[in-house]
Amino acid sequence: MSREKLKIFIEKNLSDKNLVIVSNREPYIHKKFGNNFKVEKPVGGLSSALDEVLKATGGKWVAWGSGSGDRENVDGKNCISVPPSKPSYILKRVWLTPEEINNYYHGYANQVLWPLCHITLDRVYFKKKYWADYKNANRIFAHAVLSITDRKSLVWIHDYHLCLVPKILKEKKPDLTVAHFWHIPWPDYSVFRICPQFKEILEALLCNDLIGFQIPLFINNFLSCVKETLEEAEINYNNNTVSYNGHLTVLKSFPISVDFDSFDSLASAPKTSKALQTLTERYNLKNKYIGIGVDRLEYTKGLIKRLQAIDLFFEKYPKFIGTFTFIQIAVPTRMKEPYATYKLTVEVLIKKINKKYALEDWNPIIYRDIKSEHEDLVAYYRMADVGIISSIYDGMNLVAKEFVASQCEKKGVLLLSEFAGAAEELEGAILVNPYDIEEFSNCIKTALELPVKEKACRINALRRQVKENDIYRWILDVLRDITVPFLKCYYVFDNLEKIPRNNIFLFFDFDGTLTPIVSSPDKAHLSEYTRNLILRLNERYPVAIISGRALHDIKQRVNLENMIYAGNHGAEIWDGQKLVVGQQLSDSKKVLSNIIDELKNALSSVKGTIIEDKGITASIHYRMVDSRDICTLFDIIWTTAHNYKGLFKITSGKKVFEIKPHGTWNKGDAVKWICEHYGKNRVPVYLGDDTTDEDAFNAIKGKGTGISIGRSLKADYYLKTQGEVKKLLQWIENYHP
Ligand code: UDP
Repeated sequence: MSREKLKIFIEKNLSDKNLVIVSNREPYIHKKFGNNFKVEKPVGGLSSALDEVLKATGGKWVAWGSGSGDRENVDGKNCISVPPSKPSYILKRVWLTPEEINNYYHGYANQVLWPLCHITLDRVYFKKKYWADYKNANRIFAHAVLSITDRKSLVWIHDYHLCLVPKILKEKKPDLTVAHFWHIPWPDYSVFRICPQFKEILEALLCNDLIGFQIPLFINNFLSCVKETLEEAEINYNNNTVSYNGHLTVLKSFPISVDFDSFDSLASAPKTSKALQTLTERYNLKNKYIGIGVDRLEYTKGLIKRLQAIDLFFEKYPKFIGTFTFIQIAVPTRMKEPYATYKLTVEVLIKKINKKYALEDWNPIIYRDIKSEHEDLVAYYRMADVGIISSIYDGMNLVAKEFVASQCEKKGVLLLSEFAGAAEELEGAILVNPYDIEEFSNCIKTALELPVKEKACRINALRRQVKENDIYRWILDVLRDITVPFLKCYYVFDNLEKIPRNNIFLFFDFDGTLTPIVSSPDKAHLSEYTRNLILRLNERYPVAIISGRALHDIKQRVNLENMIYAGNHGAEIWDGQKLVVGQQLSDSKKVLSNIIDELKNALSSVKGTIIEDKGITASIHYRMVDSRDICTLFDIIWTTAHNYKGLFKITSGKKVFEIKPHGTWNKGDAVKWICEHYGKNRVPVYLGDDTTDEDAFNAIKGKGTGISIGRSLKADYYLKTQGEVKKLLQWIENYHP
């Protein structure tokens, strides 16, 4: 589904753009064997999904030529058409000397930025020459990009190896659109300031038009660093933008994912069933509980903690000796210190545990330290009763999602570190704090002994989540944001002559625009002064208040007659005299109220659920629900979703489900409708502060004026603070043609 959508999006929006991907690793590596070359593709969903994108767009990819046969397989411009079997895009290779690789890649990237961002601070090892070559390498990458870009190019940079590239690109070609995805965590200021070059890195990253992070926490951390480091930076916390040196950078979270359908079909293929049988026989796993861990041999993956928990698990619950086997697939990585020592420590610990509990025909841990292809991994994932992820900190963790997608028999339980980005989304996993070894060992037992029905319910919920949010959806979301034209947004009071005051139609968002943001929505209060100001303006111009609140709530709070109000983000409109609601909406209102009654009934046994009835939409909050009841809750919600799927859409957010009728209006739809019916020849002026106001800014683009509180991507002008709204309204009132 999302694959199809992505294809359509690319055809519609990217065919005339030159998309350039920049990453340290290349998508095709030529290796030399005697006089022959072999082409290898790095394993990984991301690389193959981006490869698909470029095959469709015919774009370009700039990466370090790391293969022994790479130099012999490029033209005079260091380019080669790939894939070799059916060339459809250009791979441009950059060359780095062994010393540069040592300092830039093994040094600054992997011994400074990697441990710093994963908060393993005693592993941060800084040398001046690392930084010098990091700068060199970034320059080399940037110049390669510049040589193949034109004004229409969209550049998409990946990860922490290339922090300085956006700055070099923008200095030379300010019109380029540059986006950066940060795959690993971003720490807060108290950690980040350890890096001697923290200011330079932040400044360079703020030359991007868009920076993508895995989860909102990393955005908050990034903003804390900007706030403490760059005094002149203007931060808009409502829409996560930073304005620095006259440039606007948008920060957004895009949780990366896997190709669900591919893992699902690989896992259920007859070949995998056969492989599963072979493994069962080879390792004597028949009638045993099986646990699986799949990781790079990387200290942030928490392998030592996992092994300690397994050791304690056998010690505390001896009935599992001989009945539970843990398979650890650990791929050697980076092959330098501190990885070599880490590998050794892991292996010594495994030997110790195996010696301690081994029986004649059984070992507690099976250890494989060679890389497996996804075709082989799926058999391990599928056969496991529990998948264990114990990262001490992790940007996302794709293994967690691969495990879920491979559970075609729906019996495996995911035990997931709460410090992996994936824990933000994967409702249905058993979350574990890997530092709390005792609790960790208890969780392994809990996972194995969950009732079959609960296991199925949890994994079903997880599978739904990963299927809906797969790698194609991720790419689509990022590309959508990259292709948004990065319009300029100017300060209102420097451009008053361009703000219309004649024959206008005034639209106001409420919270954050007419009233300051307060700790709880109940406390928002419109001052008498602003109320009177709006009243006076409404005598001269039509005024509409457009809010996310329920209609009755917003009407009551503004408390002015003869004005247009739109509630529920535009889904319900009061035209000053009467309610203007489409028939379909009245119908769905009735149905929604039935759904809410049904849910109230069904969820009465699930303590802690809060159902918020917003008339046209509803939210079910479950932050307070005990984890033992989550399964029942999911069951009820998804059964309801299934029963009403033609009429309503149920989406999951953080500890909340949202129920909305299909085709509900947003603020943009409402503004268009209102303009058409009550102000055909008027110029709309819309003031708003929230991301939901962007639909309205879009709707009036070119026809009116969008003004945001804080700089934003889609508005034409901005005010620095909510307090300036009053000043602007006074200025409009003072107009006497
Ligand atoms: N992987 C693999 N073969 C192996 C072990 C791991 O292909 O033998 C892949 C795994 O399937 C996953 C990736 O390596 O796609 C690891 O990604 P993750 O996000 O879990 O961690 P990272 O290594 O990127 O920090």
